[in-house]
Amino acid sequence: LQQLYGPLNYLGTYYRLIKQALVDVEALHKLLEENIEVNDADGAIELLGTSSTGKAGKATTAISFNKVTFGYDPRREAILNGISFDVPLGSKLAIVGPTGAGKSTMSRLVYRFYDVWEGSVSVCGLDVRDVTQLTLRRVLGIVPQDTVLFNETLHLNISYGRAGFDDGVEQARMHAKKGPNLRLIPTLQQLRERRGKKATGGGAGGSTAKEDDSKWIDERLAPRSVVEEAASVAKLTDFIAKLPDGYETVVGERGLRLSGGEKQRTSIARVVVKNPEICVYDEATSSLDTHTEREVVAAINSLASSGKYAASLSVAHRLSTVVDSDIILVLSGGVIAERGTHEELLEMDGTYAGMWQAQNSSNSSSANLSNES
Ligand code: ATP
Repeated sequence: LQQLYGPLNYLGTYYRLIKQALVDVEALHKLLEENIEVNDADGAIELLGTSSTGKAGKATTAISFNKVTFGYDPRREAILNGISFDVPLGSKLAIVGPTGAGKSTMSRLVYRFYDVWEGSVSVCGLDVRDVTQLTLRRVLGIVPQDTVLFNETLHLNISYGRAGFDDGVEQARMHAKKGPNLRLIPTLQQLRERRGKKATGGGAGGSTAKEDDSKWIDERLAPRSVVEEAASVAKLTDFIAKLPDGYETVVGERGLRLSGGEKQRTSIARVVVKNPEICVYDEATSSLDTHTEREVVAAINSLASSGKYAASLSVAHRLSTVVDSDIILVLSGGVIAERGTHEELLEMDGTYAGMWQAQNSSNSSSANLSNES
């Protein structure tokens, strides 16, 4: 039995390594599959963000929807019908509405995961179909409903927002359209392999594999101070402090070792590291408990009003997260049913006011329940 212990131990180690590699490739495939519907137009130009100049001169709006009609399936009715609105530079816009109304769909159209049936979506004054996807996604930062986390450390997952890392995945998407060839795609997986080769080569000047490894991390990842700052904005600091391996904790397959709220906060931290000009939050706080949600929303709002971001668009279920927005759109039945500030919408006494009352009464009854328990 003792003789068997060594080989079995090796087998176990290699099994874990191979499994982890497969998980990373699986995550990549998921990303590749996600976006095969759109291509860069011939002659697509680079989007330079708020300094972009379009046909109409310098951009004054961060995001514009112009009579947008869209659905996922041409055999079915459109989900959005002639939607128009602007997110002016320097403003925060929120979209609310019943479940299935098409709120997340609107955020996907900004990112150009799909092309509209009619009308146009513009970012910084340029139609998203006229710019390269790579530069479009550099200007935008998104906190999606389902964050894709790699089976890597928290440090890496947060650093992933840094330019260079997510560009790698965007390039991967584009290569995928011409026929996926993992060996040609600059991915995390490939970068890790390169790092592995370099590390096992012993390094120049007598440096050890461990020193090479840290060098690779220093070059590719955001510095720890940047990651820590982002984690603090996303209210992750206390959670990470309690982990025995801290920022070096591996999050598990698709982040399974994290709760929904922890995953979302990692995603928020990732966007803070990315530091994009325009932020899109899609139900960014839906898995957080009320207390943590309030903290994260306060952090996001203070960032948004710090002048750090040129504009933000939030898709929200809980109205408490949008009360500070400059403009709130109420999406219902494929159209914008109401628009205004929180106070204006309450005064209208329509759909929004009804949703506000309903959420407040359910909040107070759940507060009562927790007081009683
Ligand atoms: P929720 O508040 O529940 O997240 P939502 O307002 O964000 O809802 P969307 O996720 O935008 O709504 O979905 C709008 C409609 O489009 C729904 O009927 C949904 O089933 C459908 N839908 C969403 N994604 C797809 C897809 N990839 N393919 C086909 N239909 C889809």
